[in-house]
Formats: sequence, C-alpha cells, structure tokens
Amino acid sequence: MFAKWGADSFTLRVQFKFNWNPLPPVPAEWSLVVDGRPVRVTLVRNLRARRYVLRLRADGSARVTIPRGGSVPEAQRFAERNQAWLARQLQRQAARPQRPDQWILGTEILFRGELVKLAAREPNPSRWVQCGSETIKVAELAADLRAAIEKHLWRLAAKEFPPIVHAFAARHQLSVNRVTVRNQRSRWGSCSRRGTISLNWRLIQTPAFVRDYIVLHELMHLRQMNHSARYWREVEQVCPDYAVAERWLKRHATLLR
Ligand SMILES: [Zn+2]
Repeated sequence: MFAKWGADSFTLRVQFKFNWNPLPPVPAEWSLVVDGRPVRVTLVRNLRARRYVLRLRADGSARVTIPRGGSVPEAQRFAERNQAWLARQLQRQAARPQRPDQWILGTEILFRGELVKLAAREPNPSRWVQCGSETIKVAELAADLRAAIEKHLWRLAAKEFPPIVHAFAARHQLSVNRVTVRNQRSRWGSCSRRGTISLNWRLIQTPAFVRDYIVLHELMHLRQMNHSARYWREVEQVCPDYAVAERWLKRHATLLR
C-alpha cells in the first residue's frame, strides 16, 4: 500500500452509459483547442471502466478513458463538451508553483516545509552552499547544484527518519522490521506485509506534520493492508488532521517532483 502523489490527477466523471458497439481501433492521440492553444489528448480504452473519464495529466496533456461499449467519436465529443472544465484545470495547474529543473545559487527550494534560497556560504564561498540549516559541499558553485544537494538531503533523511518511525511504532504497539529511505519517483512511502516501511527522502522537504502523517499512514497499513473505511478510521484516530497533510502534499506535489 502506498501514498501516491496526488496533485495532478483531476478527474471528472459522467454518468454510466451502456451500449454494445463493436470496438473500432482507438487513435492513440488527437488534439483539442482549449483557450486558443492545442492540448494533446490521449484516448485509452478500458474495458473495466464504467463511464467516460477525462483527466488532466501533470505534463499538461489530457486523457480520455473510453468505457466498455464506448466509442471514439463519443469520447471526442465528451472531451469537447468538457473543454471549460479542462481550461479551468489547466489554469490551476499553471498557477501551482513548479519545481525548478536546475538548482543554482539563488534558487528557492523546499526544506522542512519552508522555501529556502540557495546561497554561497561565507567566508569561503567557493565550494560550500548554504541550504537552510545545512552547509553542503559542492564540486562547483557555478554548476547545477541539484544532484549534490539532493544527495545531501537524502542522506540527512536516511539518518533522521528511522528513529521517528520506530518511535511512532512503539507508541502504537506496532512492530516494524526495517525502515528504508528511498528515492521513489511516485510514492511518498510504502509498507510491506513483512513490516518494512519505506519513506521517500523528499519528506525532508515537507513540514514535520506532513512527514509524520506519511509515517502514520504507512504504519496503519500494518493494521489494515488496504485503504478501506476501517483503515481510514485507524489513520484518523492516530492523526486527526491527516486531511490537512494530504492537502499540503497535493498543493506541493509539483515542487517536490
Ligand atoms: Zn496507503
């Protein structure tokens, strides 16, 4: 079980529609003009889907799921009918802060939930970068600092997180075999049946209450290996404000990517 990045999948559903057309081939892509600019739309047939679903993806393209019995023309009409919704989602996506690709001096990055500006450290600014409370050695100040800083933050997370997990586990009488801190691209954390908790090092970039929520989210999977209503009741009992943490993660997902 895992906590996923949540910010980019805005989903709109319509009523179930049922008919038994034969399945014509689906063109892989097609584009739709939204607010005067083309949006790439991928059509995907899913025989288990019960209705048409339009989704905006993180890269700004859209996807329409065609349900069992649905057709390509109908999928295209469905996307066209929902252009205004797509335009709104695109605006929201553009308004969200983006993580800069290159990290150089002056770039602001998230560290422990705060935006910190990467700065050269005095008095010997040639090889050292200040990132919040951390002083990080880099090969060259003029280069992209991202790899060196990410490596440092990962190491810091790997030192800090395991004792936190074990403390929460002890408080809730749960037994954890192993804690790993990893570089997952699409998960905040995971929990295996054998009691291994894996956390994403990027939780060092979130506020502590968000990190704690993910720790508790994964620990509660030791009680319920699913996302059932019963599971969420367990989470709510140990982390009553978990919805606030979920919202934070949603709002900042692009910064962390
Ligand atoms: Zn989960």
